[in-house]
Amino acid sequence: MDSQSGTLYVVATPIGNLGDITQRALQILQQVDRILAEDTRRTHQLLTHFGIKGSLVSLHDHNERQRIEQIEEWLQSGLSLALVSDAGTPLISDPGYFIVRELREREFSVVPIPGPSALVAALSVAGLPTNRFCFEGFLSSKSTARKKQLLALKDETRTVVFYESSHRIKGCVEDLCEVFGDEREMVIARELTKQFETVLAGKPASILDLINADSNQTRGEFVVMIQGADKELLESKVSSHQLLKELTPHLPTKLVAQIVANLTGESKKDLYAKALEMKL
Ligand code: SAM
Repeated sequence: MDSQSGTLYVVATPIGNLGDITQRALQILQQVDRILAEDTRRTHQLLTHFGIKGSLVSLHDHNERQRIEQIEEWLQSGLSLALVSDAGTPLISDPGYFIVRELREREFSVVPIPGPSALVAALSVAGLPTNRFCFEGFLSSKSTARKKQLLALKDETRTVVFYESSHRIKGCVEDLCEVFGDEREMVIARELTKQFETVLAGKPASILDLINADSNQTRGEFVVMIQGADKELLESKVSSHQLLKELTPHLPTKLVAQIVANLTGESKKDLYAKALEMKL
C-alpha cells in the first residue's frame, strides 16, 4: 500500500428508523467513489432517501472472493470505498469479513464508521447484565441442532445473545423452554426502532404463552437474550456424572437413572446408558 491509496470505510446504517443514520455515515456515503453493498436495491433506496447518488457495487457472501482483486485495484488507484450491509453494522452476522481481513493483511486503510447494530440496541434495553455477554449470531434452523447449541450454552455465565428470524422464533422459544426450563430470565427485542418495536421479558414459558396468544409477536426481526447461569449455583452443582458414580453401586440402575434425571433434568435414557457403562 502507498500513501496515495484509498480507504475502505465500513459504514453502519439504520436497523429500521432512518433517523438513526449518523452525520458521518452520510458524509462518507456522499464522498466515496464506490459503495460496496450487500443488496444494491436496498442500499439504493437508502441513498435515494438521503438524496445521495452513489455508485453501487454488489458485495455479498457469494462474490466476496471474486471481488477482492478489483477492490484492491480501486484502492491502489486512490479511490475510496464504503462497505454497507442491508441494515446495521457490516460484518455483524453480515458479509464483509473476508474483504476486511484481506485488505488489512495487504495493509490498506480500513476505517469504521460506527452506528446502529441490533445486538447493542437490544442489550441496551434488556435489563440483563451487559458487562459481559456472548454473541452467538444465528443459531441453527433445525430444532435438534439448535437444542444441542442451547444445551452447550446452559452453563454460560455471561448474558447470551443471538439473532432470530420470524419463521423460527416460536420454535426457538419452545426449545428454550425445554432446555432452560424456568431457571432463567429471557428478553426478546422485536422490530427495534420500527413501528412495532416490542420488548418481551420473563421466563421462557411465559414468553411462549404471549407468543401463542398473539401471532403478531412472531412477526419481524428479533434479538433473543438469555440471562447467564448463576456462577455460585453452578459451582455448587453436583454433576450427573458424580451422582451416577455415587449411586450406581448401591441402587438398581433404573432407579439411579430416574433419580438423577429428576435432579438434573437430563435424559433418563442417556443416564441409564451411562450408569450401565459405569457398572462394566
Ligand atoms: N448487521 C446487523 C446488525 O448490526 O444488527 C445484523 C444483520 S443480521 C443478517 C439480521 C438480523 O439482525 C435479523 O434477523 C434480526 O435477528 C436482527 N435485527 C436486525 N434488525 C433488527 C431490528 N430492527 N430489531 C430486532 N432485530 C433486528
